[in-house]
Amino acid sequence: MSKPKILLQLDPDKHPSVFDSVVAIDCGIDHLLTQANVDSGSVVGLVHGTLFTRGPEDLKSTAIFFGGSNVEQTEALVKKAKTAFFGPMRVSYMSDPNGSNTTAAAAVLSVLKHGDSFGTVTVLAGTGPVGQRIASLISPYADKVRICSRTQEKAGKVSQSIAARMGFDNLEPVKTSDPAEVQIAMHGAEVVFAAGAAGIELAGEGWMENHDSIRFAIDLNAVAPAGLHGIQVMDKAKERTGKVCYGAIGVGGLKMKIHKQCIRSLFESNDKTLESSEIFEIGKSMM
Ligand code: NAP
Repeated sequence: MSKPKILLQLDPDKHPSVFDSVVAIDCGIDHLLTQANVDSGSVVGLVHGTLFTRGPEDLKSTAIFFGGSNVEQTEALVKKAKTAFFGPMRVSYMSDPNGSNTTAAAAVLSVLKHGDSFGTVTVLAGTGPVGQRIASLISPYADKVRICSRTQEKAGKVSQSIAARMGFDNLEPVKTSDPAEVQIAMHGAEVVFAAGAAGIELAGEGWMENHDSIRFAIDLNAVAPAGLHGIQVMDKAKERTGKVCYGAIGVGGLKMKIHKQCIRSLFESNDKTLESSEIFEIGKSMM
């Protein structure tokens, strides 16, 4: 008989994400253990608790979820946590700090529902956790990906870092420090993603009319004003001025489905390592 499914939720924040806990429980796990304030000094000990309590054949019934509001902090924790694994003594894990991996996967898959080959893709505010992941995931399906930032330096650093890690040669850093530069960054694009901070408008009134080339527009900002003026948070493949539009909640349904499928898949074996690209692949397999 298989052991009860235990999910250990590790979170560097003072309060572990309630959102992540609710999703885990809705996925039908038997026990959720949550740990707050997890840091590099404590994470290995916590992971040992998952490894030395069950025999190797039962380790697939224990898994770890890494959350947290600071994406870089959580990524460092995951790296440290993995040092606790050895040989068959390991458990499956998923990392989705601030929803960044599931959100980016859902945004890109929303576009891939409509095709698998695109011309130029513009990622406005492509330097945040969500924007960087979108740029990485869409790159294999695009002729060119413009990664935009208010500073050329930041756009350049992010583009170089993704190119070095993934081997892409179609990334172009673009400065968008004022509305005119945003319009230039959108010029000739087929797809535009807006991945700016909550409540920040990146492209104002008129962008839809000014850019006939844009066929798909995805805005991930759920807090008014919209990142792309005219897109509504509930938009889900909604046609506006000749563009197929998605808003944050329009993408959110797919994000939730991907998140839940990932949690369930953790318990299929003890060797799943669900980070950005693996989460995207699980989302793709659901299409
Ligand atoms: P973030 O890190 O807060 O911001 C992304 C980028 O926005 C920053 O790198 C910055 O780029 C730019 N930015 C910040 N302040 C700005 C300003 N005043 N004017 C212009 N640009 C500004 O965002 P994130 O965590 O990657 O998330 C992206 C979006 O997705 C957010 O709107 C977030 O709320 C949403 N989100 C939704 C979900 C969901 O479940 N639906 C989950 C996660 C995130 P530069 O400094 O390079 O210009």
